[in-house]
Amino acid sequence: MTGISPPSEADESAEIRRIWGGLGLPGLVDVHTHFMPANMLRKVWAYFDALGEGVWPITYRASQEERVETLRGFGVLRFTALSYPHRPDMAAWLNGWAADFAEQHPDSLRSATFYPEPDAKDYVAEAISSGARIFKAHLQVGGYDPRDPLLTDVWGALADSGTPVVVHCASGPVPGNFTGPGPFAEVLRRHPDLTAVIAHAGAPEYTAFLDLVERHDRVHLDTTMAFTPFIEALSPFPRSELARLRAFGDRVLLGTDFPNIPYAYVEQLRHLVALDLGDDWLRGVLHDNAVKLFGLEPEPGVT
Ligand SMILES: [Zn+2]
Repeated sequence: MTGISPPSEADESAEIRRIWGGLGLPGLVDVHTHFMPANMLRKVWAYFDALGEGVWPITYRASQEERVETLRGFGVLRFTALSYPHRPDMAAWLNGWAADFAEQHPDSLRSATFYPEPDAKDYVAEAISSGARIFKAHLQVGGYDPRDPLLTDVWGALADSGTPVVVHCASGPVPGNFTGPGPFAEVLRRHPDLTAVIAHAGAPEYTAFLDLVERHDRVHLDTTMAFTPFIEALSPFPRSELARLRAFGDRVLLGTDFPNIPYAYVEQLRHLVALDLGDDWLRGVLHDNAVKLFGLEPEPGVT
């Protein structure tokens, strides 16, 4: 809980635009945002509501198009539509929904997901060949082992195609049977070329996931919720790791968890700035690293 009400959206947009504008960037690229079918999003919000009054208030509870416009108003040039299944026979349907969403929102990066099930390798191959740019795997919600043999060809196809996959494999905010660095480290040993983006900067196992970044050239971190007072209160980022966070800054990507955050979007940016790792580091994290990773077109004449 922040204890303060969020700024008005106009004030918030102005502050966000001052941050990226002051760095000479054309805007932001946010690799970790959620758009999903309305009935699923309602269930996600109900889950957070059930934690209790004021524990995890959803700041951006609005219609889908309002949420898209909010991101655009902040100057987010590219964003994702991450969703993830909690049971079999869901992922292919989610991928179809995400393909439609991407078609309707050309400034989004077409997103896809999977679950350990017999047809996973087929629908993942199909999603890659038809234009998915980023995948999401959520080991805690999905409750599966990333070393499941049904995923061998999935990780292989992602590695071979160089398609990034955002993996929620750390134990925050809630641990699962297969979260923590151990199981996913084994996946990386078997698929060393996998372009993995460790969600939430690996919170709370920051050090172990930085070890994986150091060991594997294609492993990235996203900043989602990390460094904000909300997460710092639960699992503070060790100051002793700031040097490695800076050293591997070209593999750190802005992520936020919009819209399912219990504070204003600008807080993520304020606390990345407050890390004081330098303007070059910020330019990479907020925009340039993702442009390179996804091969995005430069924005013509936008400042
Ligand atoms: Zn998320």
